[in-house]
Amino acid sequence: MIVVKVGGSAGIDYGAVCADIANLWKSGQKLVLVHGGSGETNRVAEALGHPPKFVTSPSGYTSRFTDRQTLEIFEMVYCGKINKGIVERLQRLGVNAVGLSGLDGRIFEGKHKDSVRSVEGGKVKVLRGDHTGTVEKVNTGLIELLLGAGYLPVLTPPAVSYEGVAINVDGDRAAAALAVALKASTMLLLSNVPGLLRDYPDEASLIRTIAASDVESYLEFAQDRMKKKVLGAAEAVKGGVGRVIFGDARAGEPVSAALAGAGTVVQ
Ligand code: ADP
Repeated sequence: MIVVKVGGSAGIDYGAVCADIANLWKSGQKLVLVHGGSGETNRVAEALGHPPKFVTSPSGYTSRFTDRQTLEIFEMVYCGKINKGIVERLQRLGVNAVGLSGLDGRIFEGKHKDSVRSVEGGKVKVLRGDHTGTVEKVNTGLIELLLGAGYLPVLTPPAVSYEGVAINVDGDRAAAALAVALKASTMLLLSNVPGLLRDYPDEASLIRTIAASDVESYLEFAQDRMKKKVLGAAEAVKGGVGRVIFGDARAGEPVSAALAGAGTVVQ
């Protein structure tokens, strides 16, 4: 079993990712696809007159402040446009894909965090009305059912809180929790960079391998959103996933290339 997470940043070639996945799937590789959608969500939010607001926590992590309206725009893009776009591509390629969010069947479950601490102008502010959280539990029943019946699950945030409220969660860490729950041998985190760069954005500074016991020490090279990928990788290998690969989804055969070791291999 492999878990493939494909991001939502500019430059990602969904056509290439889906074609590669279709070939692997048809050759008998069991897999689950998880996707993001942050770039498109930002564009749609601007167009709808509700521009995105990002907050940086005192420990340096950046996240989207998700009020109710943002959550609804987030769902339109992630669960609508992007999820159905991927399912349509896979269907066209002859793969019987089924698109679901973490709400459906409570696949991704976690605690709802209503307030977030944000550093603004050197001061720490507390913002309320946030609909975010972290995946703490993966309910694999529905996924196993689908896989057993020959369907390829295509999953996306949001997750569901214990109270049944939709929460925005980080896709990389959700994919990591899923990979652990499914006892995946490999998790791929595909984005618009060749892997983890020691000296971002210099692509020649690609880090080729990271020892599983040492992942967290590489957080220092990751800025903003890349940090979540490094954290997700650490969580996955700690949870028993054999290897995690940060790969490039901009062209070629992104999934096969990453499986062959292109990118940053955490093992
Ligand atoms: P996605 O939505 O595709 O999952 P993110 O935007 O969340 O991707 O994270 C990938 C981004 O992280 C890259 O596009 C890059 O701008 C940024 N980044 C920050 N630091 C690094 C680094 N050290 N190596 C590679 N990318 C980095």
